[in-house]
Amino acid sequence: MDDPNRLSLNLATTRMRWGGTEGIAGAARAGLRWAAPWRDQIAKDGLAEIARALNDHGVAASSLCRGGMFPAESAAKRQAAIDDNRRALDQARAIDAQVLVLVVGGLPPGSKDIAGARAMVEDGIAALLPEARAKGVALAIEPLHPMYAADRACINTLGQALDLCDRLGPGTGVAVDVYHVWWDPDLERQIMRAGAARLLGFHICDWLVPTRDMLLDRGMMGDGVIDLARIRRWMDQAGYDGPIEVEIFSAENWWQRDPDQVVAIAKQRFLEVV
Ligand code: ZN
Repeated sequence: MDDPNRLSLNLATTRMRWGGTEGIAGAARAGLRWAAPWRDQIAKDGLAEIARALNDHGVAASSLCRGGMFPAESAAKRQAAIDDNRRALDQARAIDAQVLVLVVGGLPPGSKDIAGARAMVEDGIAALLPEARAKGVALAIEPLHPMYAADRACINTLGQALDLCDRLGPGTGVAVDVYHVWWDPDLERQIMRAGAARLLGFHICDWLVPTRDMLLDRGMMGDGVIDLARIRRWMDQAGYDGPIEVEIFSAENWWQRDPDQVVAIAKQRFLEVV
């Protein structure tokens, strides 16, 4: 039904038991051609080691996770965030990732001004964009479920992210993570609006009922209520043909299991239900 070569292991999925280089090796053992490392894993294992592991295993980086976190209470802190994102661009280059995923950030401490936070996000991305364009790294704005608006991302729908892309221009696009956008009645229309050029990533997992933890209880594809095949069809129709990252934060379940088995199950479910 599907091309397993599209599947990427987002290394958040195995982060409890595997570090970055281990995750890359694990992806390769499972026959995957893609993996998405996180910056904390790069900090721990070393950028050169991550790049070497990708190279040695014939695994390509589908994205670098993650940049963003632009809003802050002072100009100096906002500048520090932009500088940190510049380092992320260099890291993306070093591992040949063509996409930097942005989790844009929420409200600065003590603030109730979400419109102001959103303006800081736009200013931050605008400041980063010339360098991202020059380096050939696309900036993928990932809208997060509104429950994270205060502390992780004040961009909460695909439509809102695309409005931002419209204003910022080339070099920006979106990462569609089903966990965050599956509920959106406007999802199909916004995926079509994004189009192939601005669809920079596709993240899959499932929404469990009940969800016991808003951050760390994501489900394996097929175990929840998201119509993954339908969203996948919309992505196909819109022309997205890039890697599809399995990204599961699951402190009590999948993170506890043997990661080789988790990856094998993810691969099987990808072929069956996505
Ligand atoms: Zn994601």
